[in-house]
Amino acid sequence: MSHPQLAPTHHLLDASTVEAYREAMGRATALVADRVATVDRPYSGATLESLQAQVSRIDLDRPAAGLAEAMEETAGLYVDHAIWFHEPRYMAHLNCPVAVPALAADALASAVNTSVDTWDQSTSATLIERRLVEWTCGRIGFGAASDGVFTSGGTQSNTQALLLAREDCRHRHGDPRDADGHDHAGGLELGRLRVLATAQSHFSVTKGARLLGLAPDAVRTVATDAAGRMSPSALAVEIEAVRDAGDVVMAVVATAGTTDRGAIDPLAELADVTSAAGVWLHVDAAYGCGLLVSPTRRHWLDGIERADSVTVDFHKSFFQPVASSAVLVRDGHDLRHVTHHADYLNPRRALVPNQVDKSLQTTRRFDALKLWMTLRVMGADEIGRHVDTVVDLAADAATTVSADPDLELCCDPQLSTVLFRFRPEGVDEDEADRVNPLVRSALFASGRAVVAGTRVDGRHWLKLTLLNPSATTAHVREVLDLLVGLGHDLLAGPEDRTASSGPRRAVPAAEQELELVGEAG
Ligand SMILES: *Cc1c(COP(=O)(O)O)cnc(C)c1O
Repeated sequence: MSHPQLAPTHHLLDASTVEAYREAMGRATALVADRVATVDRPYSGATLESLQAQVSRIDLDRPAAGLAEAMEETAGLYVDHAIWFHEPRYMAHLNCPVAVPALAADALASAVNTSVDTWDQSTSATLIERRLVEWTCGRIGFGAASDGVFTSGGTQSNTQALLLAREDCRHRHGDPRDADGHDHAGGLELGRLRVLATAQSHFSVTKGARLLGLAPDAVRTVATDAAGRMSPSALAVEIEAVRDAGDVVMAVVATAGTTDRGAIDPLAELADVTSAAGVWLHVDAAYGCGLLVSPTRRHWLDGIERADSVTVDFHKSFFQPVASSAVLVRDGHDLRHVTHHADYLNPRRALVPNQVDKSLQTTRRFDALKLWMTLRVMGADEIGRHVDTVVDLAADAATTVSADPDLELCCDPQLSTVLFRFRPEGVDEDEADRVNPLVRSALFASGRAVVAGTRVDGRHWLKLTLLNPSATTAHVREVLDLLVGLGHDLLAGPEDRTASSGPRRAVPAAEQELELVGEAG
């Protein structure tokens, strides 16, 4: 039986649709270029209700007339109301403006549709990813035995690192498996394993521990110094305490750049403690990894080379589009814990490299190409200079905050975040607690700037996360002025809101918006 010939309008990329492909990509590029060239605020300010109504209205069972129509519809639904991370008044979370070469690479990787799992689906993509893993390990200072794999993000990287630590721990505590890696009963109980981290460590550590079947209270908090960095002596005491209780320390998770304060745990001193105790050290450098290429601040990460595993998020401080992350290990042999051989995919004793042997994923995007293209066009030094710029900007922003009588600086910046709150003279802490989340929501509702919020010692603080090297102290000043203006409006109370103009218009929406901008990482 012969197959019917598909019409050239079948929309699948092949020789008959290359013109349609060219046109579609041209339209997509033109749309983004147009908006990037013209947006003057990070958000349109559209309400949840209006966006919900717009999205719900679309009949997914009836396609639009064509790509042009669908693209226009998508512009109105999505692009016009996206949050623009390149806009210098976006200062909320760990999102960065993206490198243009990486966008070109992303288009290549998506269209070619490589899956970096087995050699016969990836060929040189596997080799390119491996070179980048090697390069990153070199920057970390790992030796020739090191290895790693790209992941979907810091959450997956941390989870995989904890999985490797768990398996390593079970092996070292006499939990032998048979040659196929199958579990035997009677090994080390999962419920006895403990992970030590600070209260400022990322919540993916706790999530990962839960996913790995550890006890609900498996993650123990280690005390920090005043700057929020893990105390090596407290760590030593905590390791002893776990062992005295008859439990087992599975891993210590140090953070190189905590999400809120940007604190970098004292990696070398912590490595002294973990190596003396024979405990796995994971360094979560999801945020701080940009320092690996900083021309002036690489030494802030000294000691990272002594970790057993490291998380890096290229989509945070290497200016890569989401997603681009990796987990690296000092001893590549440790990756065997995620290897599973399937006859149909990656049989034992394969003669070719299969990245699927190292990953929790099977089908996996060729995200590495974005970093490759970035390094080939921009170079590592330029990335590092951008990192230096945002660290300098944070220091300047802290000075600006300190000089403003209406604002209070929480603590000195350590990387590129600034924690502060609106608290003019005469406003007590409870009132500041009430007003600051409202100020933040009102600012978001206005669309004119976006900042984050968090809690420190139970109190509400605002946070600037600065990852845009094009942002300046003037932009910071502008955002602070907006916040202060909204803050005074809120303190004045509802009766003062009659004359509504400028940012005041946003104030009545504040309470309703509060739930929309929860305290995220
Ligand atoms: C952002 C972050 C993560 C999580 O990374 P994702 O890429 O968002 O999954 C983990 N750890 C730290 C310190 C982070 O800042």
